Amino acid sequence: MKRLPLRVTCIPGETAASFASRLARRNGVRRLVTFCSDVGIDYSQLMNGAPAEIERLATLGGADHRILQFWSPRLMGDGWFELGCAHLKFTCLQRTNARVCPVCISEARQQRERASGIHLGLWQLESIRTCHLHGCLLEPLVSLGHGRDAFDIVRLLEGYLPPQPTYVDENERHLETWLAGRIGTGRGSGWFDDLPIHVATQTAENLGALMILGADAKRSEISARDWLRAGNAGYAVMRNGLDAILATLREIQSLTPIDARLHRHRFGLFYNWLRDRDEDPAFDIIRDSVREYIWSNFPVTEGSIILGVPTPEQRVHTPATAATRAGEILGMTLATLRLLRAQGLISHAPACPKGASYFDEGEVTGFLKKLNSLAKPGAKTPEDAVPFREAALQCQTSLAEVVACVLDNHLPLFASAPTEARFGDLSVSIRAIRQTTTIPADEALSLGEASLRLKTDTRTIRALLECGHIDHILPFSDAKHRRWRVVCARSVEHFRTNHVSLTELADSRNRDAANLSKELYRYGVRPLRIGDKCQRFFRWCDVI
Ligand SMILES: [Zn+2]
Repeated sequence: MKRLPLRVTCIPGETAASFASRLARRNGVRRLVTFCSDVGIDYSQLMNGAPAEIERLATLGGADHRILQFWSPRLMGDGWFELGCAHLKFTCLQRTNARVCPVCISEARQQRERASGIHLGLWQLESIRTCHLHGCLLEPLVSLGHGRDAFDIVRLLEGYLPPQPTYVDENERHLETWLAGRIGTGRGSGWFDDLPIHVATQTAENLGALMILGADAKRSEISARDWLRAGNAGYAVMRNGLDAILATLREIQSLTPIDARLHRHRFGLFYNWLRDRDEDPAFDIIRDSVREYIWSNFPVTEGSIILGVPTPEQRVHTPATAATRAGEILGMTLATLRLLRAQGLISHAPACPKGASYFDEGEVTGFLKKLNSLAKPGAKTPEDAVPFREAALQCQTSLAEVVACVLDNHLPLFASAPTEARFGDLSVSIRAIRQTTTIPADEALSLGEASLRLKTDTRTIRALLECGHIDHILPFSDAKHRRWRVVCARSVEHFRTNHVSLTELADSRNRDAANLSKELYRYGVRPLRIGDKCQRFFRWCDVI
């Protein structure tokens, strides 16, 4: 095979098909298909990156076949391709609806030799949406309607007027930069780099779409610009590993409105996308973790199918199933359980439905275990020891306050069989409770008092302390009192002037809390990040 007399210069990153299309036009042939049959190159094989055809083309055009090969997607069979240093499943590629960089095309037209345009190998990747040279969005070309010319870039560009480029900041293109590097220079190290490329990019994009566009966004209606932002957001999470993905799902769960919706609504777009990948085992690494997360955080009933696998047992309970289980475990009524939960003593699972809550069985047994550990075997029951409910009556306080006081101060409990005792079997000394309530109220507050002032529960107070929204003080120096967690009254006042709880806000506006939370969410107002099992607080300045 001889070199053709008229040649074009191969451009870095260009596919063999693009080079061939330009070479054909330079030599006066209007269609690439015709050119291939004229010079004895198998057109289909060339489009699939076959080495023998690329070598033939390189000889004809006086180009380096290794460079042409490197940037031409090569079909490997079984739906996999090679491009650059990477193996790519066919779902990574978007081969027939060509997209181009408007600036690259304009520049190519100014240079006489390239007068007819260019197509780069990277532009065939679904997840490459910008030009790495110019940082602008790739623009789709009008398809010619018959498959034979789908790779004939010169023909596709006939009469094409490049639109004004849409430039995208480099900070929004991290996923693409990673992907281009993966193809151009090879695999890096770390969890994200070890994923198959289609799993890495598609998971990043769909997780990111959930993060920035919400669960109800329709995948088919998302623009290239938004997919780019989504991929960038998902990449920022995923490069920190699998746990970071789950932490993101947890955060989405805790920041979205309170209602009765389950995982498939809460994670809608992402969940449905993952469910539809059920025939590709490469996604198992993501799917297995997400399924496990759903089992542990939503009240899915035994036997219901989650991402292809039936639920082995129900781990998170709704009030209906909790009533029975809580009764069995704690020996208390659902009403009592609700009371304790209202004070944050037993947390509810994050996906709480309107007007009720799910109970995590582990939390309920953990709560009982905590109480049991305070009951000493063989300890003599003092005369003033009474059950919690009776103690609440005698101390003129609530049942939850009594339990909180016992837990906060590690007061001893009494029962005839301490290790097996259930909630109703335990008793506490009235004197011991009264002795704990001698904290100077003007400077320091107990957790219980702080929670009353902010109209919330002690769990939330603890979280506010941990996050530094309110302060600790230690008013007593003697060791006996050190384990008391005492709250600075001034910091509580300060917090109260700047923040409001969802419940209080809803009450003051005569609104339903769940609806109000949805509306705030829609306006971009987010609660303080103090943990998903805490009550929600907003900054006053955000909600006025
Ligand atoms: Zn460009």
